[in-house]
Amino acid sequence: MMQVTPAPVIKLIDEFSRLPGIGPKTASRLTFYLLRNPAERVEALAEALQELHQKVLFCSRCFNIAEHDPCSVCSNEHRDQAVICVVEEPLDVLAIERTRDYHGLYHVLHGVIAPTEGIGPEDLKIAELMGRVQTSQAEIQEIILATNPNLEGEATAMYIARQFEGDNIKLTRLARGLPVGGDLEYADEITLSRALSGRSEM
Ligand code: ZN
Repeated sequence: MMQVTPAPVIKLIDEFSRLPGIGPKTASRLTFYLLRNPAERVEALAEALQELHQKVLFCSRCFNIAEHDPCSVCSNEHRDQAVICVVEEPLDVLAIERTRDYHGLYHVLHGVIAPTEGIGPEDLKIAELMGRVQTSQAEIQEIILATNPNLEGEATAMYIARQFEGDNIKLTRLARGLPVGGDLEYADEITLSRALSGRSEM
């Protein structure tokens, strides 16, 4: 049978379908939407996609996404070098930065411990966190465990807290008030700001 749809269209629909939350229907709709757009708009999108991997890297200290290594937070000497806020994903850093109430450093785990999905502590940046705390020039006084308030987030926070047991570091958890089961990245600034200031020792 002859293929009536041009190959580039099929290819793009196929690529869109691989994205989270996008089914074949939405993938087709997006593809035809782009087809109707002026070529310059689509080229700008293509350029943005290309630059994503060419120009974005992971900070070798905090593992957040950055344009330079170390990232702008890690290399900012005005940030409080004695406090590290541990989060699951780069988007959580963005959410906390939006509150403008946090002035310490970050550490991005890139996930949570999830045994059902086969994700163990060794798959996350936990060893890197421990190494970082040990070799830090400034003495780390507090680690805020800002993983999400759900089962995996709690378990991950507990696991990390245990690794630092006996060290003279205050381990804190964000205050309740964040919607349980909700993600940090979706919390509004006021809620997140309150959760930060009301954090309690584990
Ligand atoms: Zn960094």
